Amino acid sequence: MSASDAQRRVALVTGASRGIGRAIAERLAADGLHVVLNYRSNQAAAEEALAAIRERGGSAELCRFDVGDEAEVSAALGELKSRHRIGVLVNNAGLARDAAFPAMSLDAWREVTRTTLDGFFLVTQALVMDMVGARWGRIVNITSLAGQIGSRGQVNYSAAKAGLIGATRSLALELAKRKITVNAVAPGFIETDMLGALPTDELKKLVPLQRLGTPHEVAGLVSYLVSDAAAYVTGQVIGINGGLGAG
Ligand code: NAP
Repeated sequence: MSASDAQRRVALVTGASRGIGRAIAERLAADGLHVVLNYRSNQAAAEEALAAIRERGGSAELCRFDVGDEAEVSAALGELKSRHRIGVLVNNAGLARDAAFPAMSLDAWREVTRTTLDGFFLVTQALVMDMVGARWGRIVNITSLAGQIGSRGQVNYSAAKAGLIGATRSLALELAKRKITVNAVAPGFIETDMLGALPTDELKKLVPLQRLGTPHEVAGLVSYLVSDAAAYVTGQVIGINGGLGAG
């Protein structure tokens, strides 16, 4: 196996202890990749995700760091890169701190933009030169419908996710010559902890397909985007939202 073949088989998924990230990690492991599952604080959930992958014969490991913390990212990825050449990166870690704008604290603004945008910057920059060297790579950024059409009470979250879309498009242009694709996936309402106490019956009524999406449906799209079949897809923002916001 050449160095670049080996690189195609190792993926880092940020925020993989729960929800969409966990489903992406499970799917990529089922596709035959070795998957590094990042998480920030929920060790028990991360271990459960890891065990689920291994029970099905998948290859995976955990790597704890806060994606928005420069020192933590640098230490964790430095160690990881001494053992693996990572060719597939899914920037999935994210969080919401909702409030009506007049009441939104600067902390809530910073926490959300730091996780989504600093997280993208720090993790992607740490890994991109290995992909450039291999002349192959796949980067998928998990943004949101909120970053495309806006969302009441989520000025911070929408701004961060819209920023991630801009970063996706620009980085795709920079890296295309090296056969590295960069795409964004924009989910609508997906059944995870992030929906919290939102009234799901009310949400479903807003969705043309009349239901919430599942993390596994998002994972299927990511699986396609990191595959060889998607080699000609780059700089795109692909919605997965049951038709919500389709116009
Ligand atoms: P979730 O169930 O709340 O899971 C969030 C994951 O991100 C957890 O694994 C969490 O780790 C991790 N995380 C949060 N902050 C982190 C940080 N600073 N460093 C490292 N990991 C961090 O959320 P989800 O619904 O699966 O969302 C996943 C992604 O999809 C997010 O980017 C979200 O914005 C996006 N999205 C979700 C929806 C939806 O309807 N659910 C819709 C559109 C977009 P711990 O377990 O350690 O806390």
